[in-house]
Amino acid sequence: MTGTLTHYALAAGLLALTATSPALAQSKVKTSAGKQKVATSPTGGSGLSRADLDTSVPPCENFYQYANGGWLKKNPIPAAETSWGTGAELAQRNRALVHRILDNAAANHSAHPGSNLQKVGDFYGSAMDTAAIEAAGLQYLQPHLARIAAVQDLAGMQRLLADPKTHVGNSWYGYGVGPDAKQSDVYAVYAEQNGLTLPDRDYYLKDDPRSKAIRAAYQAYLVNTFKLLGDSPATAAQNAATVQRLETRLAQASRTAVALRDPQKNYNKLTVAQAHQDYPNLNLPLVLQQNGLGAAQTIVVGQPEFFKEVNAMLGTEPLADQKTYLRWHLVTRATPALPQAFGAEAFRFAQTLTGARQQEPRWRRSLAATDASLGEAFGQLYVDEAFSPAAKVRAKQLVENLRQAYAERIRATDWMSPETKAQALKKLTAIAVKIGYPDQWKDYSTLNISRESYLNNLFAASEFSDKDNYRHFGKPIDRTEWGMTPPTVNAYYNPLYNEIVFPAGILQPPFFDPRADDAVNYGATAVVIGHEITHGFDDQGRQYDAQGNLHDWWTKEDNEKFNAKAAVVGKQYDAFTPLDSVHINGKLTMGENLADIGGLTIAYQAFQKTQQAKEGKLIDGFTPNQRFFLAFALRFRRNQRAEDIRKQIQTDPHSPSQYRVLGALMNMPEFYEAFGCKDGNKMVRSAADRSRIW
Ligand SMILES: [Zn+2]
Repeated sequence: MTGTLTHYALAAGLLALTATSPALAQSKVKTSAGKQKVATSPTGGSGLSRADLDTSVPPCENFYQYANGGWLKKNPIPAAETSWGTGAELAQRNRALVHRILDNAAANHSAHPGSNLQKVGDFYGSAMDTAAIEAAGLQYLQPHLARIAAVQDLAGMQRLLADPKTHVGNSWYGYGVGPDAKQSDVYAVYAEQNGLTLPDRDYYLKDDPRSKAIRAAYQAYLVNTFKLLGDSPATAAQNAATVQRLETRLAQASRTAVALRDPQKNYNKLTVAQAHQDYPNLNLPLVLQQNGLGAAQTIVVGQPEFFKEVNAMLGTEPLADQKTYLRWHLVTRATPALPQAFGAEAFRFAQTLTGARQQEPRWRRSLAATDASLGEAFGQLYVDEAFSPAAKVRAKQLVENLRQAYAERIRATDWMSPETKAQALKKLTAIAVKIGYPDQWKDYSTLNISRESYLNNLFAASEFSDKDNYRHFGKPIDRTEWGMTPPTVNAYYNPLYNEIVFPAGILQPPFFDPRADDAVNYGATAVVIGHEITHGFDDQGRQYDAQGNLHDWWTKEDNEKFNAKAAVVGKQYDAFTPLDSVHINGKLTMGENLADIGGLTIAYQAFQKTQQAKEGKLIDGFTPNQRFFLAFALRFRRNQRAEDIRKQIQTDPHSPSQYRVLGALMNMPEFYEAFGCKDGNKMVRSAADRSRIW
């Protein structure tokens, strides 16, 4: 993800923001794994267990192993997972609760037609009805395939791509509505690079053996899928090569994940007339008009050179090849609702990409899809069971404690000028907070769902979601919307709203446990809160002001000092090698690393004000500060397959779990002190090699 919502990412694949601009991410957040939640507490009241430690590793040599080694040994990765850790365990418990809610909804055949209960039950019920899905075969996909096949010329292609009913409009590039990043009180239309099936442009362009193996597996996936659609082996092979060729062309024109992190360079506002002149083959005026956005006078183009290439491709690539490419993108969208043979091919490819051993059971995939499509329709049921009003009050209080500690740190920094400090404090004060669930639930009344066809339901929900996004254009900014559903085990900062958001799904044990001591809640939850606040001041977030405008409020000198401090962090993480010869990319992970370091520092500062920290009583032989750091490390414990680590390093702005712990603690002298670390210990950095921004 690029200039998007910055989020917490605790379980692999838990979140995949597909869009690249903050605005698009806000409008099109999709989580790839399920949502989940649970009411029971996994850990005891103390929240920490000695059996989870590995005391054979000194804490000052590798604190991640010391704090988690016992647990890591006892908890191998289940076959259907690519990683397993604290976030995944919590997600599993959340899922158990949502599963019950969805099973009950699906068993209920007498829900009031048009009610949320009816829609949720029918959506999930149709997703689980594999007999009907097998019997239908390609019946429900056929009309969509026929529309692609019927295209005769460029004008016909433009009509196809502009029509929201075809479900191929977002194939070449993505578009949507979000607050204007330079005028945050009005909405703008955004268009962004898109169109790849593999996770990142590099997968198409790199020539190392691993990248080649993934492309070979992708080729097999394409060939087999085209055969399932009825192509002869020879035609299927040819079509597969066509898709690879067109996607490689798009990849060559695409910006890197690092280049996408610069919000200024990815904001290029054009009049619609100008955009039409620059990219005539896209026929943007028709696209806008067909999607209820005809009133837009301007459009923010993320990557002009990419759109130039798409324009050229639409003008020169053989029409038959363009249709093959669209057929592929249509079928990948429909795969969850097609006969199992299609899903089996997708999974075969995922095995190579992520190292997964076993496909997730159907109910889990269906649950994830229901959450993505109708998450706020059953969110209330989830919240009633999983998140008490008392928990909400307690979490809110914690946020305010963190805000106060943050203000103290900003005032106390020795490197920032009074002018920039004043602006930073203004931004900090203005940060809005959302906790648990939306005050106002999404209105699904215009979405029709029935038991007849899962494919139709899936496509109807996708069309609804797009329309629900586009309808905002021209209206006052709606700050009540959420980018994650209530059961999600995650949190985010949205720079355009200058807000931090914590779904009920993450405010659960062991992250947040009203029965645990303060050290544990500050080491876990307060660190997450501090992390999200820090995103407002990381290398990207600091470019936005208190109102959410992309507007520079830093003096030149403070700007330079910030960059110098950030560069130290970049170097530290560049040096980490989670796999042989595979380094973390310090630039790609910069924002998350800064948020991890800042979040830990601020949470520690806030914890020092608690009674427990002041009294300093031992629990289980640990001081309050030691417990704080143990709770911090516990949250990140995770066993992960090598393939998945590799994918994460290439595409994910979060560093692998172990390095999130080690990197943050290496910059924290308070940690050295808590565990008696000395110069020469691996966790200890000299003052010159440490970075403290806040
Ligand atoms: Zn983050």
